[in-house]
Amino acid sequence: MKISIIGSGYVGLVTGACLAQIGHLVYCLDKDRKKIQKLQKGQIPIYEPGLEKLVNHNIKAGKLYFSNKIKKPIQDSQAVFIAVGTPSSRRGDGYADLSYVYEVAKQISGLLQNYKVVVNKSTVPIGTAQEVKRIIGQYNPKANFDVASNPEFLKEGAAVNDFLEPDRVVIGTNSQRAEKILTQIYQPLINIQKVPRQSLIFFTDIASAELIKYASNSFLATKISFINEIAALCEKVSADIVDVSVGMGMDKRISKYFLKPGPGYGGSCFPKDVTALLRIAQENESPLRILEAVAEVNIAQKARSIKKIKQILKNREAGKKVLVLGLTFKPDTDDMRQAPSLSIIPALVEKGVQIYAHDPRGIPEAKKLLPKQVKYLQFNEILKTIPQVDAVVLLTEWKQYQKLDFTKITKHIKKTPFLDFRNLFSKQIMQKHGFKYQGLGRNK
Ligand code: NAD
Repeated sequence: MKISIIGSGYVGLVTGACLAQIGHLVYCLDKDRKKIQKLQKGQIPIYEPGLEKLVNHNIKAGKLYFSNKIKKPIQDSQAVFIAVGTPSSRRGDGYADLSYVYEVAKQISGLLQNYKVVVNKSTVPIGTAQEVKRIIGQYNPKANFDVASNPEFLKEGAAVNDFLEPDRVVIGTNSQRAEKILTQIYQPLINIQKVPRQSLIFFTDIASAELIKYASNSFLATKISFINEIAALCEKVSADIVDVSVGMGMDKRISKYFLKPGPGYGGSCFPKDVTALLRIAQENESPLRILEAVAEVNIAQKARSIKKIKQILKNREAGKKVLVLGLTFKPDTDDMRQAPSLSIIPALVEKGVQIYAHDPRGIPEAKKLLPKQVKYLQFNEILKTIPQVDAVVLLTEWKQYQKLDFTKITKHIKKTPFLDFRNLFSKQIMQKHGFKYQGLGRNK
């Protein structure tokens, strides 16, 4: 099948490469010329494990094309996916900014002479597909199309695998023709997994599909805020959050995922999707009180993280040096959007702390977003910097940090505080190296 994808960011690019991989002919489109020029040369503008190989393989196979001109690709396609950003609105009121989605609707309206299904992959409030349909119809009353909702659930850092082996594919449509095309698009995934269609593809109405995405992300954010509060309680009652999480997660109804405490959830999705769903609930006078608390707890968790760092500096921050390990909101991505480091580091810099920072992939983006006083380190500079700082703070659990051979510097570590916000290390071992180690919610 010939498919166009508008928006070649984290979601659009992964979707395009994976759809090409499973046998379709895909045009990845983006208005960002530089991005397209890079992609045409097989250079990937983001870091996502496995993606570069997949993109290059499918470019060579003649199944994946990149362009910033949408006319011919769209006219040629049977399905047009919209995968543009839906950030929080710049007004700061928490509503999703749908201007990019609506702009695409306007741009493609004149290109829908032959029947096409317009598939909304972006995360959008309930009613957006309806509005996309209205806009297309307004600009081209003769347009021949249906709009379907197909929210994306991939996780950055594991996106390729998540797309090719999804837990589920959710499709919202009220058109049999659209349903048939979307089934054909995803059929290869069913063939690969050798499962019945119904256990992988969930067809529903459009509004429900749109809500499934927001409700899913909000539920995961709820688990995180919940476990962050339980971790805080662990510190008061001498319980150990790692054991508590393991014990809870062994119950299949609860599951072990998203039960690890941290410095507060971040990323390009959870913060904006939680607030957007809260606005939808408010507008419909159907309060989501649990979710209100989830958002508040997350703000408090970031503040609590800053307080913890100040405490290990004995609340005398000015002139102190702190090494921060990990800047991205999670490992295996270069995505810095809403990363906890973006609120924690500026708060420390403001108090006169000199920050040394390392991240395996996030530094180019971090340089644009963090205060210019921050000094960035290469991986091989981490060990020699530790003896010179007043504290080490781990914000992101990149696996590389477990490879740091602290034995090389053990004799230079004089009870340096090490605050591990991801419980990546063992207290006993870190103490042996000479650190004054502190995890989150741990008593072991
Ligand atoms: P992104 O910012 O990485 O990419 C969006 C791309 O769309 C950009 O490259 C931008 O240049 C392009 N674009 C914007 N307007 C355009 C237009 N008119 N024509 C062509 N290109 C245009 O965003 P993302 O992280 O890929 O997210 C896209 C959507 O998917 C959002 O709604 C997001 O909430 C959702 N989502 C994201 C993730 C994730 O992990 N990033 C996961 C699931 C769902």
